[in-house]
Amino acid sequence: MAGRSGFAQFFSRDKVKTFKPKKKFEQGTLKFNLHKQANASLSSGIDLKEVTFKPKKRFDPGSLKYNLHKQANASLNSGIDLREVVKLPSNEDLNDWLAVHVVDFFNRINLLYGTICEYCTEETCTTMSGGPRYEYQWCDTDSVKYKKPTALPAPKYISLLMDWVESQINDENIFPVKVGVPFPKNYLQVVKKLLTRLYRVFVHVYIHHFDTLVALGAEAHVNTCYKHFYYFVVEYNLVDKKELEPLREMTEKMCL
Ligand SMILES: [Zn+2]
Repeated sequence: MAGRSGFAQFFSRDKVKTFKPKKKFEQGTLKFNLHKQANASLSSGIDLKEVTFKPKKRFDPGSLKYNLHKQANASLNSGIDLREVVKLPSNEDLNDWLAVHVVDFFNRINLLYGTICEYCTEETCTTMSGGPRYEYQWCDTDSVKYKKPTALPAPKYISLLMDWVESQINDENIFPVKVGVPFPKNYLQVVKKLLTRLYRVFVHVYIHHFDTLVALGAEAHVNTCYKHFYYFVVEYNLVDKKELEPLREMTEKMCL
């Protein structure tokens, strides 16, 4: 393969770390195909073989590295218009389209946080903040410990957040796996909550760990990931404006 990106070089030097195990789609399912379609359009211009998703194999460091490389390349080669790729392809179901993106964004943000998580400790980040004006408190009414909003160090908050997102994604009552099984009535509401919470990881990482991203050579990759996420949530109105506020200035420079 000609020309390795800085990102790939970095990850060939160091062990690839992911924060939580990756969520996979079952091969042969509608969602797997949609996922591939979504990714193929993201990476268009690249050999399609490169964007093949590897289902079933869990937590294979080789494939994670491979995915990072693929994504880095996608961003570096981007002749693609991220504003366009988020649009629903004709003949596709919006709910399915939302589902594959939730999972893909979970995986990407998981990877993104994995790259900096050793720099995000209870000592460096005593609260889950996005600058001095925003602080998030964890609340999960289904949990025992966090029935009320609770201030936590950022790594603890993000760990709980990613576990929670993963459990929602794996809940077949919310994200039905079988074709023909309907999505629940509150589906859109759940998707909004999932993406709103995932967005907070971007907020924290950008505001508190941007220098590390730059030092790791991950900045371009993360920016592309962010733009894709941003265009997606705006296209379908999935995250409230006030939640986007902490990164508004950056977003205006980057995305508008
Ligand atoms: Zn941190």
